[in-house]
Amino acid sequence: MLQIKDLVAEVAGKQILNGLNLTIGPGEVHAIMGPNGAGKSTLGNVLTGRDGYDVTSGQVLFNGKDLFELDIEERAREGLFLAFQYPVEIPGVSNMEFLKAAVDAQRKHRGLEEMSSFDFMKLAREVSQKVSLDQSFLKRGVNEGFSGGEKKRNEILQMMLLEPQLCILDETDSGLDIDALQVVANGVNAMRAENRSFIVVTHYQRLLDYIVPDYVHVLAGGKIVKSGGKDLALELEAKGYGWLEGEVA
Ligand code: ADP
Ligand code: MG
Ligand code: MG
Repeated sequence: MLQIKDLVAEVAGKQILNGLNLTIGPGEVHAIMGPNGAGKSTLGNVLTGRDGYDVTSGQVLFNGKDLFELDIEERAREGLFLAFQYPVEIPGVSNMEFLKAAVDAQRKHRGLEEMSSFDFMKLAREVSQKVSLDQSFLKRGVNEGFSGGEKKRNEILQMMLLEPQLCILDETDSGLDIDALQVVANGVNAMRAENRSFIVVTHYQRLLDYIVPDYVHVLAGGKIVKSGGKDLALELEAKGYGWLEGEVA
């Protein structure tokens, strides 16, 4: 589904990703852990095509297509979804309008008709319930004045409505209480499917008790320096990242 080869990228003239390699098959959940400033968020931003993140070399194939040939909207329509570490607020645009526009664009791309407002409202309410977000949040401005936990639930709501192929969750667990954490995990687990993959960036092994990954990777110094199964997360929790310094160098 995703093949990243020798990816080198820079932000504000500074090289952050230094030859990163990662392959993700359909249906797999990959956790990415690593020290602060390692380039984890940069990786998500580069993949989704955020402004200011420049690829200097390397290749990324998404379902066999050259990802960097697609603009941001095309990447989203092809099924790439990034839940930001810090979700943006869009005051003045209701959450419902925003979600419907996103879902309609997605449906159009898949050759489906627009949903009627009535049907969409019904669906959005059902999904809100699944993520324990009160319906009143659908009428408010996108993330406007939402608490940290509400923003994260809202992102999971968005993800569930869009049904993406590859979901990148960047520290979706940071600052969440245990109930919100479970909502996020349940949302992800409910969406796990043969043809859908996840990259879960997290600092804490705790989330991985709920979302059990197939693979765990350590990103340090702008590349993947170690990969393993779910037990690697436990080892990192116990030992930190210092013991991997040799591999970073
Ligand atoms: P992580 O998510 O692993 O903690 P990031 O990818 O956010 O790390 O950041 C990696 C490095 O890139 C950091 O040194 C950070 O300061 C730098 N960086 C990221 N985005 C920008 C930006 N927009 N402008 C300048 N530096 C940036
Ligand atoms: Mg960080
Ligand atoms: Mg980050």
